[in-house]
Amino acid sequence: VTAWRPTAERALPKRHHHLPNSHPTYFTNPIAMVRARDCRFYDEHGRSYLDALNNVTLVGHGHPRLVDVAARQLGRLNTNTRFVYDVLSEYAERLTATLPDGLDVVYFVNSGSEANDLALRMSRYLTKRDDVVIIDDAYHGYTTTVADVSPSRYKHYGKPDTTHPTPVPDRYRGRYGYDDPEAGAHYARHVIETFDRLAAEGRPPAAYLFEALLAGGGQVVLPPGYLAPIFAAASRAGAMTIADEVQVGFGRLGEAFWGFQTQGPDVVPDFVTMGKAMGNGFPVAAMVTTREISQAFDATGRFFSTYGGNPVACAVGLELLKVVEEEGLQQNALETGQYLRDVLAALAPKHELIGDVRGQGFYSGVEFVLDRETKEPASEETLLICERLKDRGVLVYPTGPAWNILKLKPPLSFTRDHADEFAAALDAVLEEGW
Ligand code: PMP
Repeated sequence: VTAWRPTAERALPKRHHHLPNSHPTYFTNPIAMVRARDCRFYDEHGRSYLDALNNVTLVGHGHPRLVDVAARQLGRLNTNTRFVYDVLSEYAERLTATLPDGLDVVYFVNSGSEANDLALRMSRYLTKRDDVVIIDDAYHGYTTTVADVSPSRYKHYGKPDTTHPTPVPDRYRGRYGYDDPEAGAHYARHVIETFDRLAAEGRPPAAYLFEALLAGGGQVVLPPGYLAPIFAAASRAGAMTIADEVQVGFGRLGEAFWGFQTQGPDVVPDFVTMGKAMGNGFPVAAMVTTREISQAFDATGRFFSTYGGNPVACAVGLELLKVVEEEGLQQNALETGQYLRDVLAALAPKHELIGDVRGQGFYSGVEFVLDRETKEPASEETLLICERLKDRGVLVYPTGPAWNILKLKPPLSFTRDHADEFAAALDAVLEEGW
C-alpha cells in the first residue's frame, strides 16, 4: 500500500521538470483542484473555494447540460470537420444570430490566439498593408503574429515596427478622468491621430484591434463615446476593425451580448474573435466576419482547421448559448454584477487601500493604492490580499500593468449571496492589516 501524498507534492516536481519555466500557476503554493461545481472549486483536501476569478467558466462549473451533450456527442460522432453534421450548421446559425446583420461567416478554430491571428492575416491580405493600431497593455495571444500586437509580450523582445499602441483610456489614472464627460472623445482623438500620422507617413494601418473592456490594461471600462469616432475614422482610413471578444463576449458585460455593442449601434466590427467562455472550458473558438470579406480572402486557398468546429466543440458551444439564454445569465451579469460592485464600493470608506471599484456586468476591478492622492499602486499588498483570500476560501487574482488590481470574473451564475460572501472575506482580510 502506497501512502497517500498530497497531489501538489507528487505532481509539482514533474510538472516543473516537463513544463517551461515561463508557464505560470496561480498562488505561491499552487492549489491541486480535483473538482468544481457551479461557482465553487474543491481541492484535494476537500476544501471549497468561491470562484471569483474564472476566465473560462461562463455558465458555472460542471454544468450538467454541457456535460451531457459533450459526453453524448463524443460517444456518437467526433471527427474532423470535412464531414457534414447538423450540429455545426445549427451552431453557426445560432451564433451569428447574436451578432449584427452581415456578420454571417464563421471560421471555427481552437483558441483565441488562432482567431486573432486569422483576423490579422485577413486584414493584412485584404488591405495590402502591414501596420496595426492597438490599445496599450493589451494581450491578444501567443502566436508570432498576435504576440507582436501584445505589449505584455513584445515588451520582452522589442516592439515591432508595424505595431502602434495608443493610450489606455483609463479614467482613474489617465489624462481624462471620470469627471470629464468628453473623456471618450478625448481618448479616441489619440487613436485617430495615430491613424492620421501613419497615413501621412505613407503607411496607413491595416487594422485597429481592441477589447471592449481592457483586462491587461487594468480592468478598464471604455468611456462612452470612445469607439464610435474611432470606427468612423478607421472606415475613412480604410483600416479594418477587429473586436477581440475572447474575454468579454457571451453576455458577461450584462448590457449587451457582445462587448463592442456596449459602445452603441454604430460600432460594427469587420471581425469578431471569440474563445474562452465559448465552450465553458472546452476548447471552442471562432472568428466571425462578413461574406464579402470572407469571399475576398478565398483567393488565398482553402481554410481548414482539423479540430476547429468539430462535433463535440459545436455541441458544447450550441448548448452554452441555450443555457445563457434560458437561465437569464446575461441579465444576472447585469444586475448581480452591479450588486457586487456596490457591496465592494461600500467597503471603500473603511479601507483606504481601495482606490477605485469599476467594471461592467460580471467583469470588474478593485484597484488598490497606497495613497489616494498619488495613486501609488499597492502591488505587493494586492498579491498578499489574494493569498489571504485564498486562505479564507475565496479565489481572485491580480491584474493590470502594476498588478495592483483584483480581476473579478466569476461565472455568470454568481448570486448575491456569493457577492456578499466575497465582500465579507475582503473586508476581513483588509481589517487584519499587515
Ligand atoms: N485575447 C484576449 C483578450 C485574451 O485574454 C486571450 C487569452 N488570455 C487571448 C486573446 C488568447 O486566447 P487563447 O489563450 O485561447 O489563445
